[in-house]
Amino acid sequence: MGEHFFDMTAHIPTSDLPRIVIIGAGFSGLRLAKKLASKPFQVVLIDRNNFHQFQPLFYQVATAGLAPSAISFPIRKVFHKVKNVIFRLASVETIDTENKTILTTIGEIAYDTLVIAVGADTNYFNNAQIEEHALPMKSVQESLQMRNKILECMEAALICETEEEKEAFMNVVVVGGGPTGTEVSGALSEMKRFVLPKDYPELDFSKMNIHLLEASGKLLNGMSEKSSVAAEQFLSKMGVIVDTSAIVEQFDGTTVSIKGGKKLAAHTLIWAAGIKGNPVKGISSESILPNGRVKTNVYNQLQAHPDIYAIGDIAFVEDSLHEKGHPQVAQVAIQQADNLAHNISKPSKKRPFRYKNLGSMATIGRNRSRGRFAVLALSRFFCLGGVAFRAPDVHPWCEEQTVHLPRMDVELLHLRSKFALGDKTKAR
Ligand SMILES: Cc1cc2nc3c(=O)[nH]c(=O)nc-3n(C[C@H](O)[C@H](O)[C@H](O)COP(=O)(O)OP(=O)(O)OC[C@H]3O[C@@H](n4cnc5c(N)ncnc54)[C@H](O)[C@@H]3O)c2cc1C
Repeated sequence: MGEHFFDMTAHIPTSDLPRIVIIGAGFSGLRLAKKLASKPFQVVLIDRNNFHQFQPLFYQVATAGLAPSAISFPIRKVFHKVKNVIFRLASVETIDTENKTILTTIGEIAYDTLVIAVGADTNYFNNAQIEEHALPMKSVQESLQMRNKILECMEAALICETEEEKEAFMNVVVVGGGPTGTEVSGALSEMKRFVLPKDYPELDFSKMNIHLLEASGKLLNGMSEKSSVAAEQFLSKMGVIVDTSAIVEQFDGTTVSIKGGKKLAAHTLIWAAGIKGNPVKGISSESILPNGRVKTNVYNQLQAHPDIYAIGDIAFVEDSLHEKGHPQVAQVAIQQADNLAHNISKPSKKRPFRYKNLGSMATIGRNRSRGRFAVLALSRFFCLGGVAFRAPDVHPWCEEQTVHLPRMDVELLHLRSKFALGDKTKAR
């Protein structure tokens, strides 16, 4: 690797192979590293966690449906038999594009090619009060915090003096009617009906309200009208109070203020209303869009830095078919990783990135419900052959609940005994 034949505090072994540094071992970064395994490169994969997190099931951890270990798995395990992929547990702080190094919490690391795959962060739209009090769901830790908060609130409700106080502790408000908000609301409703009454027999759960607030006029905005309507009907049937024209303005930890003056008493507010890019410092400002995404050409390459690529949620690939950017979903991340692996391995046969929408899905509820719609939705889903996401490994829980679809190798969908809204209109 020419002049970069030095190794710094990160103790990356020296090598004659060109070094590809990947920041982030999420859906896209991990996939890319796997695709480059045993290819003539030295691949350095860096993540601030030494485990990969399966984000689509965070809501199951948050609602006590799954243990954290069921949706996290060690990154090193993936590369047990791979010699050219080196993992380092570190947080990347800055990119020095001139010297082709990155500064991390364990020192500098040189690169020949750099891939930014850092994903997205929660977007509070500059509302500091909501950021202070709301519960996000962008990591296993945050999902656990949510679960703990809900349980702490039940404990607090037990010792309240008044009914009003009690209800405020029991109530949960979910903001954002996309797939995450919809799924978490369904899971909360089941937690309210089937789990919490066993642990807290002294509480009257008919007094617990789960509100799902969305501002855009409908749930599952990126999906078909039929799915939106069905999701709202399902959730209402499950006892969730859905309001699709509610703009949440403030939350001070005890009261949710909605535009127009309405107020809801609740100590728990789950924020599933938006995400934003959070690029690593050091790249040219012209590559960063106001929403924090990193602008790339159709090869996921930064115009200002031809040796740097961005993939996954962080990337905004210029494409006339996706003027607002590709949806920030696992399939885009995976497909971009595959395409980039091809382009890096075969530079003379470079292919532009073209997103193939395999469909999207939101699941509402688990185990205890039976309904006509569930059957229809599932069969439609299978007819379309659509699927929402794919996991890089199989967890114990997932082995049990996995659906293998012919067009993919390891597809992870916890379909069994669930309501599902299958949809191939537009992924979120
Ligand atoms: C609650 C929730 C539910 C979702 N449900 C679905 C779904 O049902 N279907 C679907 O298709 N998609 C879903 N998504 C979206 C999907 O998870 C993302 O599109 C996908 O994870 C994006 O992959 P990525 O590689 O870009 O980023 P990520 O998977 O987020 O990975 C980014 C990685 O970068 C690491 N990282 C970040 N910054 C640094 C740094 N500075 N230094 C070191 N490491 C860093 C992080 O630790 C992380 O491991 C969901 C997301 C969430 C949050």
